[in-house]
Amino acid sequence: MSRVYNFSAGPSMMPEAVLRKAADEMLDYKGSGQSVMEMSHRSKVFQSVIDEAEALLRELMGIPENYKVLFLQGGGSSQFSMIPMNLMTKSNKADFIITGQWAKKAFQEASRYGKARAVASSEDKTYSYIPKTDKAMFDDEADYVYICLNNTIYGTKYNTLPDTGSVPLVADISSCILSEPIDVSKFGLLFAGAQKNMGPAGVTVVIIREDLIGEPMDITPTMFKYKIHADNKSLYNTPPCYSIYICKLMLEWLKNDIGGLENMKKLNEQKAKLLYDFLDSSKLFKGTVAKEDRSLMNIPFVTGNDELDALFVKQAGENVLVNIKGHRSVGGMRASVYNGMPLEGVQKLVDFMKKFEEEHS
Ligand SMILES: *Cc1c(COP(=O)(O)O)cnc(C)c1O
Repeated sequence: MSRVYNFSAGPSMMPEAVLRKAADEMLDYKGSGQSVMEMSHRSKVFQSVIDEAEALLRELMGIPENYKVLFLQGGGSSQFSMIPMNLMTKSNKADFIITGQWAKKAFQEASRYGKARAVASSEDKTYSYIPKTDKAMFDDEADYVYICLNNTIYGTKYNTLPDTGSVPLVADISSCILSEPIDVSKFGLLFAGAQKNMGPAGVTVVIIREDLIGEPMDITPTMFKYKIHADNKSLYNTPPCYSIYICKLMLEWLKNDIGGLENMKKLNEQKAKLLYDFLDSSKLFKGTVAKEDRSLMNIPFVTGNDELDALFVKQAGENVLVNIKGHRSVGGMRASVYNGMPLEGVQKLVDFMKKFEEEHS
């Protein structure tokens, strides 16, 4: 068996230990005589799976008691509508910082349900930086301020959170959840599609402060009401059982093999530093993002020559370094180095880049 190093922005590679555990438990989950894929979501045994997943997530992220954890479907993208339908209910206003396509999509979707306002944007420079904001820029009547904490496509992240005063901060953490510790109490709502850093596609985690789970807009479909899912402990309807189970294995790995989010952060910093240091010293390759806003998870870079970029992507793929082509809006390359990417994979990439540089400069 030969496995590749998958630098895709998502779905992404998972630790081999997690995949092996899933394989071991495939036919018989803990003596139940069945796979998690087959069992009733109303069974005691599945209840233990979802309870353990939630307890591990709460422990690892330090989620306070007054927040609910929801396991939903519909991907990160459904949250773009679900958030305004449930939260834009007092002043019907919300402020957005536009740091890339995902934030823009969330903004456009919210505009359908209320007065969404773009407070700042980095579109002028292809979203290669995080715009500076101060408290006075935000509407203190807004129902929330929305940000995308890590910008998957462009490779930027917030290193300092915007000061929104008493207005709840809502953040898309799809591509950075569990990559490092995060102070949940600073947010009103956090959400993440699992397929980048937490598990397989199919489950979306929402972490919401209880006082924000109010009465949604009248038009809100039942399945889009946080209250319905909170009241039913994510079991209003059939949840994505197997995806939740794989998330549980990922969380166990994070806790037991890695030793928690502080350790995960150190490992992620080590991986990112390896690549950034090389980019900063390379004569051929260069990073595309403002240094102070660099992401730990998604690292875009270019040679400045489209043909050379294409050749690099092709040859990297032939050397088991796959899915390294950049997003079409940025071009060049992008290495996504989520939790599941081992240090060895990044080392192999840097070695390959050095060799390519020698051959082409
Ligand atoms: C991938 C991604 C999304 C979209 O997630 P889906 O689950 O495909 O809907 C949203 N936000 C960010 C930051 C992402 O990286």
